[in-house]
Amino acid sequence: MSEITPIKPISFACPKCKRPLHSGENVLQCSECNRTYRIEGGIPDLLSGDAQASSVLQMAKKVDFLAPIYESRLWYQLLLNLAGAGGSSLRSIASFHAETLKGITGSVLDVACGPATYGRRIASPSRSVYGIDISMGMLRQGAAYIAREGVVGIQLARGSVDELPFENAVFDGAICSGALHLFPDTVHSLREIARTMKVDAPLGVQTFVAGGKSGIMRLLGRRRDVHAFELPELEQYLTEAGFDRFLPKLEGIFLTFSARKAMPRS
Ligand SMILES: [Zn+2]
Repeated sequence: MSEITPIKPISFACPKCKRPLHSGENVLQCSECNRTYRIEGGIPDLLSGDAQASSVLQMAKKVDFLAPIYESRLWYQLLLNLAGAGGSSLRSIASFHAETLKGITGSVLDVACGPATYGRRIASPSRSVYGIDISMGMLRQGAAYIAREGVVGIQLARGSVDELPFENAVFDGAICSGALHLFPDTVHSLREIARTMKVDAPLGVQTFVAGGKSGIMRLLGRRRDVHAFELPELEQYLTEAGFDRFLPKLEGIFLTFSARKAMPRS
């Protein structure tokens, strides 16, 4: 029987000054900058005042109502079909993330985790998942699924990709599903994800590329808050943000890719 080495838990850090937070009564406190963050129903709210005011948060409020049905087969598959990714399913995307994280133990970041759709599926006794999302509705739904399914090794917190509540170089891997195209500044967000990752740690992303006959992306492409990528552009962003070994796989306009945190250039 193989022994499972216990994973050292990661402490949440202040999203502003990145110092580890200390636990108080239903709050997490930063002794560096004196900010206090509430814990609601076991979910720390680590959005800073700046992120609270952002337009992205306004969008998150609009999707809160989707939380209870987000993972339902009909809804999820409808979205995938509209995106021209009829061969893809929640299960095939979960397999992609599992493959990207193959052999990875320790701690994994799930950016824009929604109701922990994939986080729940990649967490294990030897792999702790930290799921971050700006929508409290999605996180509450995720917490309910986690409790119902008895998933171990997953912790959720409300936070922004642009101010991740973690210290530098703590994660052994990261995933981000269905959200990269929604981040206002792609390079900034990728750089912030890279900051929290160890060198060589894998990143698995599911997003969309521009073009194709898909009606939904033509429609979304006209929206200023959705970014449909070109592959060379995306590779450039990843390089700028500190990733290398870009490995894309396209199905219509549906893109999954992996990359690795590069050795920092001195
Ligand atoms: Zn602080």
